[in-house]
Formats: sequence, structure tokens, C-alpha cells
Amino acid sequence: MSSKQKIKVSRRLDIRLTLRYSCAFLITTFIICAFLYSRIRHNLLKDIDRVLFDEGREIAASLLRSGKPNTEEMTELVRENASRKFYPLHFRIMDTDGNVQFVSREKVFRSIPAGKELWKQMTEKKGITETVYRFHRKYPKRVYTFSVYQDNRLSYVVQITTTLKLMNKSLRNFRFNIIQAFPLALLLGALGGWLLARGSLKPIGEVTRTTRRITASNLAERIAVNHTGDELDELIITINDMISRIEDAFKRIAQFTADASHELRTPLCSLKGEIEVILSQERDGEEYKKTLIDCAERLEELSKLLNGLLLLARADGGEIIRATPITLDKLLMSLAEFFDPLARQKGITLSLGAMEDVHIMGDKNLLQQLFTNLIDNAIKYTSESGKITLTMSVGPDMVGVSVEDTGIGIPEDALPHIFKRFYRVDPSRSREAGGSGLGLSICHFIVEAHHGRIKVETEINRGSTFTVYLPRTSSR
Ligand code: ADP
Repeated sequence: MSSKQKIKVSRRLDIRLTLRYSCAFLITTFIICAFLYSRIRHNLLKDIDRVLFDEGREIAASLLRSGKPNTEEMTELVRENASRKFYPLHFRIMDTDGNVQFVSREKVFRSIPAGKELWKQMTEKKGITETVYRFHRKYPKRVYTFSVYQDNRLSYVVQITTTLKLMNKSLRNFRFNIIQAFPLALLLGALGGWLLARGSLKPIGEVTRTTRRITASNLAERIAVNHTGDELDELIITINDMISRIEDAFKRIAQFTADASHELRTPLCSLKGEIEVILSQERDGEEYKKTLIDCAERLEELSKLLNGLLLLARADGGEIIRATPITLDKLLMSLAEFFDPLARQKGITLSLGAMEDVHIMGDKNLLQQLFTNLIDNAIKYTSESGKITLTMSVGPDMVGVSVEDTGIGIPEDALPHIFKRFYRVDPSRSREAGGSGLGLSICHFIVEAHHGRIKVETEINRGSTFTVYLPRTSSR
């Protein structure tokens, strides 16, 4: 997906979050409503049962007082109950043989079970409350059946009942209201969820817009931090840090390119000038030869410079070294042998100090380049009758290689810069000596790539010692 492509509606985070909120809201509301419904039903039934129990207590008291159903009292109770508007009560009294001794209204009890089974139950329990459903009729009935004992003997079973019409109507109303309010609640919930999602995601839109604006030409721009201390703030700070790193890398690349072009331009211009001069008029063979030799030398320097640039470009690209086992003392001895003629030519003594049979893991070409640069510098910056010594010091984990010279030394204020690219203490002197200002920065990269370190000790006009420490991999 390109950065400017529009996100599909179905993939949009605010829409997805709203859907999730709505689902969660729906499920929660449903659970709450179901719970409320069951609690209301339970409480209504409890109230009805309480009315049934009260009535039962009165009937039982009358039976115990009179020893049998007292027609006068029963008729009075029926009259009282008939006046009840919402929960009209009816009752019947049965004797031990299951014969009905009194019934307030017979047809009410047609669908309510009685007989032997009930009798058996009543010998075990004192009272049963149950709901009797009559599918052919609209409303169920609540029935309270209890036993009356006289002289410790079961003498009557009484049943009191009332219709659950009102309760069912109330519950139906409750269900109806919920169903009616549900879509509205869902709509409000979804709207709330959407507003919430939009509000939380708004800063992300801001981050996206600012990040889109940032290009190579305005890398200095940053996303505004809200200072809320939340995850979004953390994300913005991380993105800003990343942009800073990219900006640094861009600056370094731009600087490197500018420096590299400058370094290449000088020798190329002088090469061009030299060729133009020699071609400006007819010359003899000897002159042409001398100029060509000069040009070849300059081209050699240019090629060295280009190789250095290439190596540093590879280092910037994070190239990993190809490590193989290397016998360090052998490598140093062959380099000393190689540089000896050059040193002699300058009247410098190049000698080997303590050497031990040490193996390390490393990239042979890079290590050769590392020590070549150090020895080359030592020769470049040491004058006639000076001395250069290569020494090895072996520790338990690291091996140190020192290149010590008795040359011009490095001023203290230049020391922090000597490993920087294109830095030279004395540019004209360095250029004269064929230096490009890249040698030590290449050394630094090689040492780091081998997980080692490099140290410099120097004194003006007394000399310098560059010591490289590299990790050992096998015993001596
Ligand atoms: P260059 O190619 O100019 O020698 P380097 O990166 O190798 O560049 O070195 C950076 C600078 O450090 C040199 O210009 C030089 O001034 C100084 N330098 C390096 N090695 C020595 C040394 N052995 N003695 C004195 N100065 C040195």
C-alpha cells in the first residue's frame, strides 16, 4: 500500500473499533437486561407468595379454631378475596381422603393437580409453592399447597391460588420496553464508541500527516509531542528519534560526498593541468616519459583514495567482515618485510619487537589494510634516522599490536579528530606525503568491525604509538 493510498472503510481502525465497542455494548446490555428481568420476576413472585402465605395462615387458623371448615368464616374469606383487584385469591380445602371440603370457586382448580400424589407429598413436606402452566389458557397460576395438622395428625390439605396475569403483563411490558429501547441504546452506544475511537485516533492522523510531509529536504521537521505520557507519546518520540537518526545519516552522507568530491577534484585538476601543459607544445620523448610517470603516480594515489572511499562506503552500509583464522605474528612479519625497503629508502629503521605465535579470527585483507595504514603513517611522519618498532603484547583475552615511531608526534588538540574522515593535522604536509586523511578512519572501522579498540600515545617531536587490541580466539 502506498503511503497516500486511501484506507478501505472496512479496514479503518475507527470503524473496526466502533464495531467492537458496539458488540461489547450489545452483549453487556443484553446480560444486564437478562439479569434485571430475572430479578424482577423473582421479586414479583416473592411478593405474590407472601400474599398466599398470609391467606394460608388465616385459613389454617380458622381450621384449627373450628376443627373443620367453618362455612361462615370461609364465606367471609371468599368475599374478602373477591374484592382483590390484582391478585384474586381462591382456595380449596381437602380432607385426608382427598375429598374437597370447601372450594371458593371450583373451575379455578380444574387444572390444579390434587389427589393421592399430592397427599403423599404433603406427608413429607409442610408446604409447596409452584407455578402451574396451562398452555391452552393465557396465564399460569401460582399455587401454594400446605397441610394442617390437628393433634399431630394430618387432617387437611389446603390449596390457595392466584393468577399470574398481572405479573406476566408487567414482565411483558418490561420486555417490550427493552426491545423498543434497544436499537436506540445501540445507536447511542455505537455513536459514543465512534466518537471515542475518533478522539483517540485523531493524534495518529496528525502523526501520519506530519510523517508524510517529511522528505529528504525537510528532515529537520518533527512530530509535535502531546506530553500526555501515553503510548502515543512514546510512539511519536520513537518516530522523532528515528527521524533524527535518519537526519544524522543524511548529513553524514552529504558531508562525506562533499569531502570526497573535493578530495577527488584536487588531484584530478592537477592531473588534467599537467596533461594540458605537456600537450600545449611539441616535447621530446624524455619529457613525455617523465610526465607519464608523474601521472601514473597521481593515478595510483587516486586509486588508493577511491579504494578508501569504497571501503568506508561499505562500512557505512554495515558490511559484515568475512572472518577466518589468522596467525597474527606471521601477518606482521610479512608486512615488516614488505615495508622495510621503503623505510630504508627514508633512512628509517623498521624493526620487530616481541612476537608470539597468536591466532585470531579476522578478515585478512582488512587486517592487512589496518596495519599497512599504521606503518605507512609511521613512515610518512617520521624523519630520517628515525625508528619504527612493531611489538606484540599478549593478554588472556586480547592481543595488542603496537606501531611505535620516533616521528613528529600529534598535537594534543588534534587527537580527538584524527580518526575522523578527511581530517589531517597539517593538510599540506599530509598531501605532500600522499595522505588522504582517510587512513585512520579506515583503521577505526576495521578495529570496531573486529570488536577491538585502538589507542594512541603521542608526544610532539618524540613520536607516536598506535596500539590495536584485538580479541584472541585460541591459546598461544
Ligand atoms: P593521512 O592519510 O593524512 O595520513 P590519516 O587518517 O592516516 O590521514 O591520519 C590523520 C592525521 O593524523 C594525519 O594527517 C597526520 O597528521 C596524523 N597522523 C597519523 N599518524 C601519525 C603518526 N604516526 N605520526 C604523526 N602524525 C600522524
